[in-house]
Amino acid sequence: MTGMNVPFFRADLAGHELEYIREVLESGWLTSGKRVQEFEKLFADATGAGHAIAVNSCTAALHLACEASGVGPGSEVLVPSLTFTATAEVVEYLGGTVRLVDVDLTTGLLTPDLLTQALDAHPSISCVMPVHFAGAPCRMLGTTQDPGIVKICQSRGISIVEDAAHAFPARYADGKPVGSSIGTTACCFSFYANKTITTGEGGMVTTNDDAVAERMRRMRLHGIDRSAWDRHTRIGAAWEYDVIAAGYKYNLTDIAAAIGIAQLERAEEFRNARARLVEAYRERLGGIDAIRLPAADQASNHHAWHLFVIRVDPASGIDRNQLIEKINDQGIGTSVHYKPLHRMTHWSKTALIEPSGCPNTDDWFEHCLSLPLFPSMTADEFESVCTAVESAVANCLAGTPRV
Ligand SMILES: *Cc1c(COP(=O)(O)O)cnc(C)c1O
Repeated sequence: MTGMNVPFFRADLAGHELEYIREVLESGWLTSGKRVQEFEKLFADATGAGHAIAVNSCTAALHLACEASGVGPGSEVLVPSLTFTATAEVVEYLGGTVRLVDVDLTTGLLTPDLLTQALDAHPSISCVMPVHFAGAPCRMLGTTQDPGIVKICQSRGISIVEDAAHAFPARYADGKPVGSSIGTTACCFSFYANKTITTGEGGMVTTNDDAVAERMRRMRLHGIDRSAWDRHTRIGAAWEYDVIAAGYKYNLTDIAAAIGIAQLERAEEFRNARARLVEAYRERLGGIDAIRLPAADQASNHHAWHLFVIRVDPASGIDRNQLIEKINDQGIGTSVHYKPLHRMTHWSKTALIEPSGCPNTDDWFEHCLSLPLFPSMTADEFESVCTAVESAVANCLAGTPRV
């Protein structure tokens, strides 16, 4: 088998996408309208949420959710350092301060223990943003003896905004879908080009809180009390509306929603295809001592498997950057999730952090790399990725003195 070029990600848009886009173009109504409403209804059904509000990015969703949960000047918000900058930046938009927290070294997730430590040390924290990293939900629900993130926050009056950019479709430990927002203010999803489902750019925020939903709906469109679609379709004065706050321009277009509806139809199919690839990776790469594979999914559909993050075993002496280079040299796309926020110029200046830093996050970052994982990956592509990883590891080991 000769190697072939494999991208890190390739979107599958071979469903009803073109058909639904055509319908929107032919209808003449391009911005937020019937299709957005339909997408929201379908997404609310898929997640079991009381409300699903479509926006033009997950960043917008996070911003609206933090705003609705009361984050503002003087607020201190807890964010794991192992995430994309969007999670933290919305806190600063609102005048709040970010406090970075470490993650668990085997999962990359914020845990109830790490959360409790941070809250005990810093009673000023008023909001927590758990990131369901790679598609694995954080331990939101627990038991009476061993409370999860929701209970810990509720008992201290702290709000929770979930970053579920990686986690659709996924389920919490009790089987409820991520996004059913049980006990959290809101849950934010991304439909960016390389996420589990895409609208090119787009996002969704779900909540069960009627007041939070109303606030986010209004702030999504300039703080106006009626949407353009509402004014277009309702009887009465179409020109009449009020502005209740200086809102944002975060609405999704009907064109994007058309793509989203077509993607949503295949979300479970996509997830199952990724889960099968993960199992195949385990079988194929599980025997390589120098690399660690992600922790197994305890239940069949808890994990969205957005990312397949492998980590170099530090004892192997392999240099992660060199391994990436040797894999890329064979035409295989990879990525790194994430260079921690505390290592970024801006966050190193403005975010609060323990004097001891985030050692697990550093360890994760220094050894991690993400392999291609997308539903349309062919058997030949899968084979090329595995062969490239095997030969790159062997190559690195040959040039590395054992420690
Ligand atoms: C992609 C991503 C975001 C931002 O999503 P956009 O839709 O691009 O705004 C936020 N958080 C995490 C963890 C992400 O991976």
